[in-house]
Amino acid sequence: MRPGRAVAGCRLSQRRRPPEYEEQPKMPDSRIALATAAHPDDVEFMMAGTLALLADAGYECHIFTIGNGNCGTVTHTHEEIIRIRGAEGHSAASVIGATYHEGLANDIEIFYDPELLRRVTAVVREVQPQIVLTQSPQDYMEDHQNSSRLTVSACFCRGMRNWVSHPWVAPTMQDVYLYHCQPYGSVGPLREHIAPSFIVDVTDKIDVKEEMLRRHASQKEWLDVSQGKDAYLAAMREGCAGMGKLAPRPVAYGEGFRQHLHVGLSAKDGDPLGEVLRERVQNLWAVVWECGSVGVWEFKLPHTPILPYRLPLRAHLPPQQRGRWAAGRRSRPHRPPGCPAACSGPRSAARRAGRSPSWAPERSPSSDATCGRR
Ligand SMILES: [Zn+2]
Repeated sequence: MRPGRAVAGCRLSQRRRPPEYEEQPKMPDSRIALATAAHPDDVEFMMAGTLALLADAGYECHIFTIGNGNCGTVTHTHEEIIRIRGAEGHSAASVIGATYHEGLANDIEIFYDPELLRRVTAVVREVQPQIVLTQSPQDYMEDHQNSSRLTVSACFCRGMRNWVSHPWVAPTMQDVYLYHCQPYGSVGPLREHIAPSFIVDVTDKIDVKEEMLRRHASQKEWLDVSQGKDAYLAAMREGCAGMGKLAPRPVAYGEGFRQHLHVGLSAKDGDPLGEVLRERVQNLWAVVWECGSVGVWEFKLPHTPILPYRLPLRAHLPPQQRGRWAAGRRSRPHRPPGCPAACSGPRSAARRAGRSPSWAPERSPSSDATCGRR
């Protein structure tokens, strides 16, 4: 394991100007994965199963939380909780042999600003990842959204010689492939439902994921008091079980992702996560439309344009989803491209009835409450 260099303690006086210009060689694809998130334990909640699978596949894994978790307590002082949560982050990462990079900013102070972006860029350049997992650009919490934006931008400008990181780390030119995990509850801040584009089967890593989450003992103890014994761990399992049910071939536990557009991040389009975890990735999620009385399920395949196939909905949805779709059939008019004139839309009947559409997982009150406290 290549040790991560500490960059969290950068001060302005430590800034260094870039060295004289040198042509950066094209670096070979690394076998390094980096998971970033706003707070200690966010990675464990949303992405740790997939990261554990990448570790098993031989990837050098890193976890980087941009926030230091200083607001995640009602008992400790600022300094105490930062130290505690940093130690918990290291402990959780050690479960899968990953390197942990401690937070750079206080909770709620994760803003999309140049100084923080320079510091996040330093970590990305230092780690030199090929695969980056990060949070959803739409999420209930500004910290999560800003962390996602900072990660995307840091990956984008990792190779820009004139973008000065703090501290200075030489630009890197490896291809980067970026994946966004699901937001909490698979819903955005405007109540929009957000569907993953693929599901990773993490069934045999769910215990590892739970152990990683258990290492964040300060959060578990706090929530045990307020929400019941092990609610913290149960909420994580519920979320993964909901994702698993979304897969076309349902699995016990899954993690959902959407891949970021490759432009600016890699020389050519690709999907190394899908290639490495091929047998565990169900890569066909899907835009579901409904035309008249016949549903169509449109999906993409790896490395092909979206929507090459149309298949009868009822023939390919699992039985429980067929039933839920049938319940939501009488809906607002909607005409996707190419639909016949007598086309009706898919989702509004369910919305009028106050229910989620079929592709959204059941929302867990305990999960929402858990996230609201970090
Ligand atoms: Zn969080």
